[in-house]
Amino acid sequence: MAIATTALLAACAPNSKQLASGIDLANLDSTYQPGADFYMYATGGWQKAHPLTAEYSRFGSFDQLGEDNNERLRSIIEEVSAKENEKGSIEQKIADLYNSAMDSVKLNGEEYWYDLEGFLLCDGYQNTREITNNWLNEVWPRMQRQGVPGLFAMYIAADEKDSKNNLVTIVQGGLTLGQKDYYIDKDARSEEIRKAYQKYIVDLSQHSGFGEEDAQRISQDVMRIETRIAEASKSRTELRDPEANYNKLSYAELKEQFPGIDWDGFFGNFGMEGVKEVCLGQPAAIHEVEKVLKEETPEALQNIYLWHAMDMVSSFLDDESRALNFGFYGKVMSGKEEDRPRWKRAVAAVEGGLGEALGQLYVAKYFPPEAKARMEKLIKNLQIALGERIDVQEWMSDETKKVAREKLDAFYVKVGYPDKWKDYSELEIGDSYLRNMLAVGEWEIKDMIKTKFNKPVDKDEWYMTPQTVNAYYNPTTNEICFPAGILQPPFFDMQADDAFNYGAIGVVIGHEMTHGFDDQGSKYDKNGNLVTWWSEEDTKQFEERIQVMREFHDSIEVLPGLHANGSLTLGENMADHGGLMVAFQAFKNATKDAPLDVIDGFTPEQRFFLAYANVWGQNIRDEEIQKRVKSDPHQLGMWRVNGQMPHIDAWYEAFGITESDPMFVPKEKRVTIW
Ligand SMILES: [Zn+2]
Repeated sequence: MAIATTALLAACAPNSKQLASGIDLANLDSTYQPGADFYMYATGGWQKAHPLTAEYSRFGSFDQLGEDNNERLRSIIEEVSAKENEKGSIEQKIADLYNSAMDSVKLNGEEYWYDLEGFLLCDGYQNTREITNNWLNEVWPRMQRQGVPGLFAMYIAADEKDSKNNLVTIVQGGLTLGQKDYYIDKDARSEEIRKAYQKYIVDLSQHSGFGEEDAQRISQDVMRIETRIAEASKSRTELRDPEANYNKLSYAELKEQFPGIDWDGFFGNFGMEGVKEVCLGQPAAIHEVEKVLKEETPEALQNIYLWHAMDMVSSFLDDESRALNFGFYGKVMSGKEEDRPRWKRAVAAVEGGLGEALGQLYVAKYFPPEAKARMEKLIKNLQIALGERIDVQEWMSDETKKVAREKLDAFYVKVGYPDKWKDYSELEIGDSYLRNMLAVGEWEIKDMIKTKFNKPVDKDEWYMTPQTVNAYYNPTTNEICFPAGILQPPFFDMQADDAFNYGAIGVVIGHEMTHGFDDQGSKYDKNGNLVTWWSEEDTKQFEERIQVMREFHDSIEVLPGLHANGSLTLGENMADHGGLMVAFQAFKNATKDAPLDVIDGFTPEQRFFLAYANVWGQNIRDEEIQKRVKSDPHQLGMWRVNGQMPHIDAWYEAFGITESDPMFVPKEKRVTIW
């Protein structure tokens, strides 16, 4: 059957039938057999047609949609900019933020450096060496209010064990490279990154106005202090255990157990009077920060804070600062060859700073009400299918099934865009890009405190903007959210039939739903509280089953000698598996009474899997693979396809895969969840 399909494919050119199936035949590569490399079979043509440009370290059909979206956002912004906008309106803020980011003459001009000096030092101060005390007491608190990262992080979010209420949360931080591995791992690649990082610190410090000696000292201080904190920090995989990262303290206990940090001063700086309780996620890292504050000199502390500030603002300055930033994060860390054009960075700045304001304009123009209605129906059908899947699980006890179904029924569903929008009235945007971005940083913290500090959780808050090409599940509100941005091809196509839409967006919906029952989500109940609701036996059965997934992905070699991290990617891999299982069932339910035809030589079942695979077609550089294996809880595109298909019985049937095919996995070795 596979051979027949392949032969047919080769004879077929893309034609108008594509619309009905939603599958672009040009995306396939019939030189591959579906049972040998399904990923290349389904997406090889797309990959060939979309070689990586210098700007990208990874480019997939996901990113293509992001690109299309960027063009739309740009046209909205330019339309707004062309008008005379009332001062204080969101249109004025969008236009001015964008224009400030686009004004290359001003950004590269002499005058602009006064902004930087005023920010890094303090208007009037010249020699940083002599002002350490003033600097630490005056400049640094102001920078923290502007969002410059310190040695740990603070945010306000749902209390995981009392999910209706918000809780002040302190977590490990202070690592410019994002995670501990980069500071500690001994492999050549990590060494190379550390070396390049030190050079980046020296270069950017010098460019920002420090002499060579000062720049060298900043680099040494930063590496030493960040490495100390890295050693005491948890890895990404360790952070995936919510129970182990929940440590609630009264304010008195916080001060008593972590006396090395001036908590009154810290919270007072943000105007947070009356902190009652905090969740302190990673005590070891915070204890190390206490030691750093005690043992390091004031000069060294000033240097690391200065560094965090310089690094943060380097993209909002002249071209040379940005080039240094890109040279490290873009080139060295990701393997990109060329920076994004200025307009894309400017769109991203508006997106980051005024995301929901831009989103309001976006959905008015690009999100038809029919799309919302069809999406809601799809979600309903997926919900029914997941309920059916839960019912037929043999490993789950009846009591746990009952509670699982209650959780499923309690999903809070968000589609398209929020019912109420963020209020940007207190954010002032003018003509300096640097000052604008600092104002955004300050506004975000103020807004968080204003809306969340000592307040109940607002379930209607959105954690993604409507124009985002993505979706999420949030365990503490038990919500699934599908922004307008993802409700477009190749995920969702109003012109395509159910085989396509269930295979693409249907699996995304099922994926997000399954997060409610993955290795992390299953630890939260229907109200979003971190409690055990599974029986011990169910948990044991569950663990045994997910172990199969973990080991399968651990064994995958993503580059010669480099293996995927099955533990880090476990939740996402299970969500892909659940998404496929549930969406396929929902698809069968939906077409039970009126089965779809063969189109373009493919059965509806085949089209379902082709649509799924096409979401993940991508090209990627080795550096980006190395980075993602360390940091991304999602598998690489190739393995979201080839690591999943062998565990889906319906895929074997659809393509007639047999034991002789390289991707074949014996039934007893397949993942059996959902
Ligand atoms: Zn996910």
